[in-house]
Amino acid sequence: MVSKEKADNQTQSKHKPGFFKRMFGFTEAEKDAALIEAEAPTEEAPLPSETGPELLQPEAEAQDAQDGALAPLDQPPPEATLTESVEAADLAAAEPERKRSWWTRLREGLSRSSGSIGAGLAAIFTKRRLDSGMLEDLEDVLIRADLGLEAAARIAKAVGHGRYDKDIDVAEVKAVLACEVERVLEPHARPLEIDPSRKPFVILVVGVNGSGKTTTIGKLAAQFKAKGFSVTLAAGDTFRAAAIEQLRIWGERLGCPVIFRGQGGDAPALAFDAMKAAREEAADVLLMDTAGRLQNRTELMAELEKIIRVMRKADPQAPHAVLLVLDATVGQNAINQVEIFGRVAGVTGLVMTKLDGTARGGILVAVAEKFKLPIHFIGVGEGAGDLETFKARDFARAIAGLEP
Ligand code: GDP
Ligand code: MG
Repeated sequence: MVSKEKADNQTQSKHKPGFFKRMFGFTEAEKDAALIEAEAPTEEAPLPSETGPELLQPEAEAQDAQDGALAPLDQPPPEATLTESVEAADLAAAEPERKRSWWTRLREGLSRSSGSIGAGLAAIFTKRRLDSGMLEDLEDVLIRADLGLEAAARIAKAVGHGRYDKDIDVAEVKAVLACEVERVLEPHARPLEIDPSRKPFVILVVGVNGSGKTTTIGKLAAQFKAKGFSVTLAAGDTFRAAAIEQLRIWGERLGCPVIFRGQGGDAPALAFDAMKAAREEAADVLLMDTAGRLQNRTELMAELEKIIRVMRKADPQAPHAVLLVLDATVGQNAINQVEIFGRVAGVTGLVMTKLDGTARGGILVAVAEKFKLPIHFIGVGEGAGDLETFKARDFARAIAGLEP
């Protein structure tokens, strides 16, 4: 039995709450509910032995418990947050404040990386004259910060260029570092373009559990709606009721139809329903969520392939984008994730989430260098407004510990 629901868009809020609240950020009550839920044991948490060896993600199970951490549908909506749609005018008016706050969060999120790099540089560049030992130590610091071997070597080389045996200080090294990181990332900083001739423009969202897929779908839907696109969501993570519920809440908040089946439903069949429904709705964009548990990779691979096959029956070009959502706090494991999902699902672009937390953001440099995939967005929080178009310069300056 397939159900479809539409959010009730009739009841517009009379209040004008704060910007982030209007962007559906957590209220205190929701936060408390989320914490309680996160602490509650979930019977679905996989045993460690069930988890795929290459994709062990320590935080994943903990994050798993947070799925559906938003208030359940049958509870009254938090005041003035649910049915209000995101208005482009509001976004523009709040732009300077938004920019500052997003930069602050990015810098704080990357402070673990920039802090360790900064401390490393301070320890190395104590002598004033640059020698090859100092450059080797610099390379080590950058590798430890997850930037990858190639980038670390390149940056050290750039610092050395024309500076051997000359005076050098930490500020100069940081400036070169920011410049080189920007140079690596810049060619890959590409916005996600919605081709209006593809209707619906189908976006398949993949990634391991807890990486932020469902939240990113909510944020993306908010952005697309603000741009005037009509959006349909498909709750393709059919493993857990909480994951389906979570997407339904986003749909209700944003006024997007959500196509879903019950827990344990067949995801490829759901993809079929979603393609059909999005066509019937004349939706501009279809965003499809997927399950992320990788304890059985063969199964996951088969399911993703099947979803894509089903989509292609309805539209041979679909999915038009396959976004891999990477959690910035997992570090090196991101490399495995890009490799595997790239092979299975033909990833076309990346979103890195949780760059506001205790991120190990250096990995994005290594990923960019190795896979040369477009980096579309970064997530800097849990609210609908906390998804930013990726900008190489901002990221590079934040990781080097410099101001914008
Ligand atoms: P999924 O299993 O891949 O669908 O992951 P979810 O979207 O359910 O996200 C897992 C947890 O990470 C939830 O508690 C989200 O609120 C949180 N989350 C997602 N994106 C971000 C982000 O950019 N920053 C922070 N701080 N938390 C995030
Ligand atoms: Mg999910």
